[in-house]
Parts: sequence; C-alpha cells; structure tokens
Amino acid sequence: MVGSISVPEDRRFEALVSPTAELERLHTGCGWAEGPVWSDADGGFLLFSDIYNHVMLRWSEAGGIEVFRADSNFSNGNTRDREGRLISCEHGSRHVVLTEADGRRVVIADRYQGRRLNSPNDVVVRSDGTIWFTDPTYGIISPLEGYPAASEQPGHWVYRVGTDREVRPVATDFVQPNGLAFSCDERTLYVADSGFSHDPTAPHHVRAFDVADDGSLARSRVFADIAPGVPDGLRVDEDDRVWISAGDGVHCYAPDGVRLGRILVPETVANLCFGGADGHTLFLTATTSLYRVRVATRGTVPRPH
Ligand code: MG
Repeated sequence: MVGSISVPEDRRFEALVSPTAELERLHTGCGWAEGPVWSDADGGFLLFSDIYNHVMLRWSEAGGIEVFRADSNFSNGNTRDREGRLISCEHGSRHVVLTEADGRRVVIADRYQGRRLNSPNDVVVRSDGTIWFTDPTYGIISPLEGYPAASEQPGHWVYRVGTDREVRPVATDFVQPNGLAFSCDERTLYVADSGFSHDPTAPHHVRAFDVADDGSLARSRVFADIAPGVPDGLRVDEDDRVWISAGDGVHCYAPDGVRLGRILVPETVANLCFGGADGHTLFLTATTSLYRVRVATRGTVPRPH
C-alpha cells in the first residue's frame, strides 16, 4: 500500500504497530476468508476457512498454502481448546465440531431444545473447559455461505456448552451475534453484533458482559461502535486490548473503551488472530486474502479467575 498502514489515534498505539509496519499478503484467491487460528505444533501453522469455497486452508512459513480440509461443511470460525484440539463452526452441518488428534469428529453442539441451530459463526473456549459460540443466521440466509433454510430457533443467540456438554443460551438479545473473546482474567466477554450487515437500523457494535461464576452474563454494555462496516471477528491481547475487524481494517481498543488506532487493510477484514513463532504476528483474513503484520503484543495469556 502507499503510505503507512498504521493509523495511531492515541500515543499508546505507536508502540504497538510501527509507522513502518508492512502488511504482507500471504495468499489470495479466496471467496470469503474467515476463522484464522494459530497452532504452535509442527513448527507453527495457521488454519483458516474459505467459506464460499467450503475449504479449510493451512498456511505455514515452510509450506506456504495447502488445503487442510477439502470439504469443510462451510466452516467459519475456528479456535483451539486447552489441549490444542481444533474446534470449528460449520454453516453446512449447522454444528460446532471438535476434531480429535486422530481426525475423528466430535459434535459439540448441534441443537437447542431439539431444534437445529441456525449456523454457528464463531467460538471460543474458556480455561474452565466451557465452549462459547454465537449462532446468527448468515449460513442459512446466504447460498454462498451454506444451505438456505428457515431458522428453527426463536432467536439468534449466544450459547455456552458446559463441561457436562449441555448447551445453554447466555445472551438472547442480539440481532446477529458474531465474533467473541474473553478478557485475560475471563471475567469479561466481548461479543460483536454485526446485524447492520443486512439491516441499516441494526447494531454494528461490540458489547461487553461481566461473566459470573456460574457462567451467566450480566451488565451488558456497548464497548465499541464499529464503522465503516461491521465488527465480525475480534481478539484480546496479553494486555487486555481488544482488536476488532472492520470495513477498513482492524481497530484496536484499550480495555476502557478508548480507540487507540487502526491498521488499514485494502479489503474488508472478517477476522484475525495472533500467532507466528514468537506470537507477535497478527494474521488477518480479509475477503479474498490472508495478510500478516508485526505487532508489539501477543494474544491473550489466560489469567483465570
Ligand atoms: Mg464471524
């Protein structure tokens, strides 16, 4: 790009993303890139979804781009559990699925009260082993993102899967819940509402909630309004800053809600994750491409309650 990709709006951002930081495109040709997740195994590699082409791709420094899963069931968001196992949201199956080390699929969530989920979008694991995911309708309203169908649920909810495998709703007042992430102490949960994507009167913001000991949420408040575009994926760094995807790139917020700055990207960013050999690379899935940029922070280091 011409000019700096780093746009500080607070002096604290200058130390995080250098004015000379480069945005490197690692791959292009995707339909809609989403769901990046890093693994330190096998020398380090990134997995991400290309929803429109229903494949999961693998990128590594040594191997470049390879197909990881040729039929991904329109996978979207991905994360890893405490043992490093892959957990994926699938629009096609309408499941949240864990992949065991031997490749076996274990369904984590497929229904609530006997009815199929809409299309799980993004997922995060808390250090107590509970699995939290969002269930908007993008995968059943867009033929590019899944199989069109009527919703069987009364709403577009956020769910928690307990260690007992019970699926329980924790937030029922979103238009389209999307990316989600915990603060370092896991006492705060951030959830994006991207409803504005299909309704100009709907939110384009990230909300914060207090997380109680029993896993219930309280004290919902708007943490950040995102424009242009909508917030989709988001991640928290080791100092509790929140990095949120947006129409013009990535927006970085301090934990008190002050926007510190932006990273400009020439394509709409859907999601992001920290990774790389030293953890200081920010990977961005942005429409047709996968990008990376160096940052002076790393992903959340859980400091459990
Ligand atoms: Mg998403």
